[in-house]
Amino acid sequence: MIVVMQHGASEALIQEVVTQVKADGYIPAITRGENQVIIGLVGESKTGLHEENYATMEGVQKVLRVSSPYKLAGRDFHPADTLVPLNGSQVGGRKIPVIAGPCSVESREQIIEIACAVKEMGATALRGGAFKPRTSPYSFQGHGEEGLKWLAEAREASGLPIVTEVMDPALVPMVAEYADVLQIGARNMQNFVLLNEVGKSRTTVLLKRGMANTIEDLLMSAEYILSHGNANVMLCERGIRTFEKYTRNTFDVNAIPVMKHRSHLPVIADPSHAIGYSEYVIPIALSAVAAGADGLIVEVHPTPAKAASDGRQSLDYAGFQKLMDAVGKVAEAVGRSA
Ligand code: PEP
Ligand code: MN
Repeated sequence: MIVVMQHGASEALIQEVVTQVKADGYIPAITRGENQVIIGLVGESKTGLHEENYATMEGVQKVLRVSSPYKLAGRDFHPADTLVPLNGSQVGGRKIPVIAGPCSVESREQIIEIACAVKEMGATALRGGAFKPRTSPYSFQGHGEEGLKWLAEAREASGLPIVTEVMDPALVPMVAEYADVLQIGARNMQNFVLLNEVGKSRTTVLLKRGMANTIEDLLMSAEYILSHGNANVMLCERGIRTFEKYTRNTFDVNAIPVMKHRSHLPVIADPSHAIGYSEYVIPIALSAVAAGADGLIVEVHPTPAKAASDGRQSLDYAGFQKLMDAVGKVAEAVGRSA
């Protein structure tokens, strides 16, 4: 952190800041210009005082941060890519896994059938929600623990690991008994109690970006999970809200290289929620792979028109096959494989 004093700040005000810097456990590095002084804060704070505290001190013009506030999620202290194990391969490596399945687990038969179908077409993992975060309390809320049991059966039948959402901090241990990956949904990205709980778990987490959250917000949420000792976190860009009305959300393709640059965690793209219409899912998925995404999560349903949720954005099997064929080609073009 660097504290920039106002032009002509008095020596007394400068010394007040220096005293505070020392009291916080930093070593002050003072640079005196002709009429402006800047004070570098070297080392670690012992009191947890932050830039806002210094910014409000008399005589201070501004405070600049030189390292990121997400120490564990950022690359400053962890330059190498984190590789997260998934179904025998590693997310964040050369291979681009595709996680596929319905928005909601609808029945035992439905999830087993879809699991086997997407496996056959090359999926790496099965997605499916048993606890659904619906905008309306009157919409289908998911089958709960029974849905998790069906997911476990689908894993047994297909060999695919399970990615499923957990919404309630109290249910993290129960959901983790069934899931291979715990999904934190966009609406819960800043549910800090939930983040702490999945951080205490040792099950891999897929952390989705909130629809109105910045990249930094997402990385700070990842920091919560990492700070509790769970190192297996995957970030997910799933579209953000903009003024555009022809699509459900706006896929922030910028976020992919930016997150890869700032963080060592793997980045997954969700083109289904990002655009909201099945006819546009494939080009958005391909743009994500071209931009450097480490994996995809896609909604697939055999009869999208009959889906309990998100049918409008779900690919049918033919669409999923088309996606898989195209992903392989784009992956190869950017030095990866699908
Ligand atoms: C989902 O994956 O079905 C879901 C609800 O996603 P999001 O949290 O991104 O809306
Ligand atoms: Mn969905």
